[in-house]
Amino acid sequence: MKILNLFLAIVFLFKLELSFSQTQNVVVVIIDGARYTETFGDPEHTYVPRMAELAQEGTIISEFYNDGFTYTSRAVPALWCGSWTEVQNINYEGSNTQCTLDPSIFEYFRKQKNQPDTKSIHELTYVSSLWLQSFHSDYGEDYWPYTVSQGSTDEEVVNQAKEDMATYQPQLTWVYLPNVDHEGHSGVWENYTGAISTADSLVNELWSYIQNDPFYKDNTTLLVTNDHGRHTDDFLGHGCSCDGCRHIMFLALGPDVKQNYVSDTYRVLPDFATTAALLLDIDMEYATGNVAQEIFLPGTYIEIVKPNNIKITNNFCSFNIEKEQVINIEVYDINGRKVKIIKSKKFNSGAYKINYNLDDLQGIYLIKISSKNINYSQKVLLY
Ligand SMILES: [Zn+2]
Ligand SMILES: [Zn+2]
Repeated sequence: MKILNLFLAIVFLFKLELSFSQTQNVVVVIIDGARYTETFGDPEHTYVPRMAELAQEGTIISEFYNDGFTYTSRAVPALWCGSWTEVQNINYEGSNTQCTLDPSIFEYFRKQKNQPDTKSIHELTYVSSLWLQSFHSDYGEDYWPYTVSQGSTDEEVVNQAKEDMATYQPQLTWVYLPNVDHEGHSGVWENYTGAISTADSLVNELWSYIQNDPFYKDNTTLLVTNDHGRHTDDFLGHGCSCDGCRHIMFLALGPDVKQNYVSDTYRVLPDFATTAALLLDIDMEYATGNVAQEIFLPGTYIEIVKPNNIKITNNFCSFNIEKEQVINIEVYDINGRKVKIIKSKKFNSGAYKINYNLDDLQGIYLIKISSKNINYSQKVLLY
């Protein structure tokens, strides 16, 4: 594991990004288990009238997807970590729970910005055994957020969040609202859609709070999403790969975000934290997500291009080379073992796109592109 981390650290040095954002603070709201057809996928916005109005001041991504596990115990950690992080069952202070293997945005923020816990606050309802962030050797427990887990309703969580924002002025406030998913599982349509309407009001309330607080006004970005949707043909459940489970909302509002803009760029769940991280000017070095730069006003964001314009996905990679050279495209497992050679041959100068099929592999792998002067790899989740 250590060796792999070192390897990743070297590789990710190439993934440099520069931020010129006006954002000083980020507030995140996760609405658990709202299906896209009941949020922005509904042209009437029946259950989300206030967010639809707010969207006129901000950006919606219409093609935002959970591209991994469509249940909360994996999707929420992926939202924290900007990657489909593995989670591990552990016993912590006497109770059984889970922790992430990759560091979370809270840890990156606190370590890189040298901030006390109260500058990154995690607000949620009361749960008996809290899911934990990572024990990663470079980050870990010393950098976890100040977590406030109390009450049982979304209203209580938002009230508490506002109180803590007033008291501590956190730069990163992460608000998790569980009620929509609970009501969905209860099977009563009116309760499910009612919970969405409540969450809709609460997002509006939070935004009003932000814009009326001198500390947060005009320098805070609000990001709202879901961890997963619900089955297309049955709102009671979720957890599969149907469009209903995968398609989720993404709303962004703030000084760096385009106004009244709908982006149809395909984006996936790990991109959420990476995008938030850009605004906070932190580098999520172990994340696999990409910044959704299309939501930002011009000039907010400059990406120092990855070497040779390299792009790596689950089914293809692409790159540019100026000189003829031998390029190796290989797949490594989590223990650093080479499991597959996709290509190893001499390429003339030019731009290439190489398609591949990794259907026989499942789990987290590294796809690596190397030559005499290129050494780049990216973690991918294959499923
Ligand atoms: Zn659920
Ligand atoms: Zn489904």
